[in-house]
Amino acid sequence: MKKIGFIGGGNMAQAMIGGIIKSKIIEPENIIVSDLNEEILEFVNQKFKVITTVDNLKTSLQSDILFLSVKPNLYEIVIKQIKENIKNDVIIVAIAAGQSIKRVEELFDKELKVIKVMPNTPSLVGEGMAAICPNKLVEEKELNFIIDIFNSFGKSEIVPEYLMDAVTAVSGSSPAYVYMFIEALADGAVLQGLPRDKAYKMAAQTVLGAAKMVLETGEHPAKLKDMVCSPGGTTIEAVAKLEEKGFRTSVIEAMKACTDKSRNMS
Ligand code: NAD
Repeated sequence: MKKIGFIGGGNMAQAMIGGIIKSKIIEPENIIVSDLNEEILEFVNQKFKVITTVDNLKTSLQSDILFLSVKPNLYEIVIKQIKENIKNDVIIVAIAAGQSIKRVEELFDKELKVIKVMPNTPSLVGEGMAAICPNKLVEEKELNFIIDIFNSFGKSEIVPEYLMDAVTAVSGSSPAYVYMFIEALADGAVLQGLPRDKAYKMAAQTVLGAAKMVLETGEHPAKLKDMVCSPGGTTIEAVAKLEEKGFRTSVIEAMKACTDKSRNMS
């Protein structure tokens, strides 16, 4: 059985660990997590029953697949701690925004199997979206195993590395803007008199249902939108107001800012 390590046990690591354990693709005793924050380790150990340590080196030595799940600015520090003793055949999974395969290879200063992945936090509930890009040393069966891991708690796509900054905007960071949209829908409902708990449920279930319609019918989103808009009806009133207020332009410009930020971090 392969052993998986996580250096950094924060939000994204927890989302992936939760997904992996739920799917039973790897047993908790084969997962090791290190973090500087002992409260986080305690929480992760209690919640997922995985092995925890404050020692990043221990995690790296015990792992066949090693997720680097610290913030981008900590990659240099963490890699410095583990690079001398890193096993030659370990697969490094780099999930940080803006950290390219080349940068990770340079920080390790040796030829290693590196897979760049941009995951997202809905992994925790089995609905993650991950974009995956391997370096040339990763063998097909190894890549397939990594794909199996990500598919066990969501969907995945192989993408060329130059598209990873755009992926960050469309699936890595976008849960945040979708939550803002759900919150805005609920606020709008509360303004019109709905109780808040019902408003959140209705807003979130509608976003979930609309997303499923796009994925499962394969129809163009514009066609699905048109199906809701009766001539002279209520929905087209809302659509017209959203257009007037620059709804789509706001989203597109926010994503451009996100992509640019990711590019500038590399
Ligand atoms: P986070 O702050 O929740 O987690 C980072 C963890 O790293 C913290 O628990 C922190 O205590 C720990 N840490 C700090 N220094 C450390 C060290 N020297 N050794 C070991 N652990 C250390 O951050 P996050 O949101 O989980 O993001 C982690 C990475 O995942 C980032 O690089 C981010 O770009 C990437 N990412 C995050 C998301 C997301 O939605 N949160 C999505 C895609 C990619």
